[in-house]
Amino acid sequence: MTTPNTAETMTEDQSAPGALTDGFHLLIDALKLNGVETIYGVPGIPITDLGRMAQAAGIRVLSFRHEQNAGNAAATAGFLTKKPGICLTVSAPGFLNGLTALAHATTNCWPMILISGSSEREVVDLMQGDYEEMDQLAIAKPLCKAAYRILHAADIGIGVARAIRSAVSGRPGGVYLDIPGALLGQVMDEVEGAASLVKVIDPAPAQIPSPDAVQRALQVIKGAKKPLIILGKGAAYAQADDLVRQFVETSGIPYLPMSMAKGLLPDTHNQSAGPARSLVLKEADVVIMLGARLNWLLSHGKGKQWGAPRSKKFVQIDIEPKEMDSNVEIAAPLVGDIASVLTALLDGMEGAWTKPPTDWTDAVKAKKDANVARMATKLQNNNTPMDYNGALGALKRIIAQRPDAILVNEGANTLDFARSIIDMYKPRKRLDVGTWGVMGVGMGSAIAAAVETGQRVLAVEGDSAFGFSGMEVETICRYKLPICIVVFNNNGIYRGTDVNPSGSGDVATTVFVENARYDLMMQAFGGTGIHVTNPDELRRAVNAAMDASIPTLINAAIDPAAGKESGNIGNLNPVSIVGKKDL
Ligand code: ADP
Ligand code: MG
Repeated sequence: MTTPNTAETMTEDQSAPGALTDGFHLLIDALKLNGVETIYGVPGIPITDLGRMAQAAGIRVLSFRHEQNAGNAAATAGFLTKKPGICLTVSAPGFLNGLTALAHATTNCWPMILISGSSEREVVDLMQGDYEEMDQLAIAKPLCKAAYRILHAADIGIGVARAIRSAVSGRPGGVYLDIPGALLGQVMDEVEGAASLVKVIDPAPAQIPSPDAVQRALQVIKGAKKPLIILGKGAAYAQADDLVRQFVETSGIPYLPMSMAKGLLPDTHNQSAGPARSLVLKEADVVIMLGARLNWLLSHGKGKQWGAPRSKKFVQIDIEPKEMDSNVEIAAPLVGDIASVLTALLDGMEGAWTKPPTDWTDAVKAKKDANVARMATKLQNNNTPMDYNGALGALKRIIAQRPDAILVNEGANTLDFARSIIDMYKPRKRLDVGTWGVMGVGMGSAIAAAVETGQRVLAVEGDSAFGFSGMEVETICRYKLPICIVVFNNNGIYRGTDVNPSGSGDVATTVFVENARYDLMMQAFGGTGIHVTNPDELRRAVNAAMDASIPTLINAAIDPAAGKESGNIGNLNPVSIVGKKDL
């Protein structure tokens, strides 16, 4: 659809008194009024002028090479800022490209708004074959928390307000906002238009837990002999960092951070049970879930990993009431926002709080110290070809020296090993593939991290994961972002050594071009590209890139035989028993 010619549209209304405004201006003003500073998107019909005008109005508008990456950036911005990340796309195909990211944001409970232009409503609804015809609102609905369409310029203010409140209140999530092209050109009286805008007051109201629920939870925790706290990314999202620390330290209970909750307290904290994960999951008698779900990432709270059946009681702190009893019985549900719940718990613990028995905390500590010591020498190796331990050992030391840097991480082995090897020291410094394990989120996340925080970013990427969004190196160079990408290049998916069982000319399904030079991609756009073959070279190259703060891609050649199937979740990849003899 062509962008409406504002001058032409206006002639009709020239009899109206006073100055006029239009959908373009109202939408931009509504976003600005609500504190939107950045839009991630891809320009095109019918939103090209919207992006231009938003930029002219002082919003930072970052253009990507593919909507999915722009959407992933918006999702990450939502996680980092507690404000909805905004992604702007064109109609049908651009909308669909952005939709994966919107669903990803919703699954991760991160606030995001996907704003997509759409074609002529009257033509779409009669299915008369419009340019990029698609009933986008209907398609978005099942994939996000809420979906709205604005048809009248006078409703833009309320529509944007509704989208923002839906995204950030309660359990955060993705919201779709459908903007038919014709809406942007609609005109109305400027004064009335300004009066129609809505600034959302208290968009994510505190949700105070009931005093009974707090008492019940405290009783359960007090009765524990082997308590455990599990910190999830909901706790990281809540930005209640001091309260989380106080609760952990006052209670004296060992804690296990989920992947993106790492750094909420430093991984080197005395009470961290990260390296004793198997022991604490199996042995704990009371488990306090703090902004974490008992989904597949925690084996649904049952099974071998969790020790004897029904051997534990769960206390769950979550803003979403429906999360309770989702997989196992929750003995003490605590519905509320993390800050309000922790404030109430800490009040209740004041005075006479007894820390957990030392035989439990000592056992956890002993197991953890043994595991850390066992790994230490492996992480020091300087082997060529590099294995994961040597390469990640080098990066572990870099993050220890640069705790403010943001670590983006995706891949299979690259993800699983980095998660356990690289310690994090500060909240919300680790961004990874989230609840769905989406490959390709890395570049969008890295860009949002650099833009939203101004910090340097180290993106540790499997070669396969990087390939999903690799073209965004141009975006990184264009905006001169302080991002250092390290591609763990093992020539393939999981490993680079698989052989085609049929003996035909094609390589195996999981194998890529041998010794590909991803570093040259970065050079193509004016960034720095370096090829390294051992951990010492890797350490030097990353340090130089982080000091220089310029777009860099380091191609780290990893032993093609080093990885294992699906990283740590090989058990989720079904294997044919019958057909296996052919492989
Ligand atoms: P992880 O994967 O790290 O275990 P999940 O994404 O599974 O974390 O769980 C995050 C949980 O945190 C979700 O159930 C979500 O409802 C909850 N949550 C998000 N924000 C808040 C908040 N401010 N207060 C309480 N709970 C929250
Ligand atoms: Mg690989």
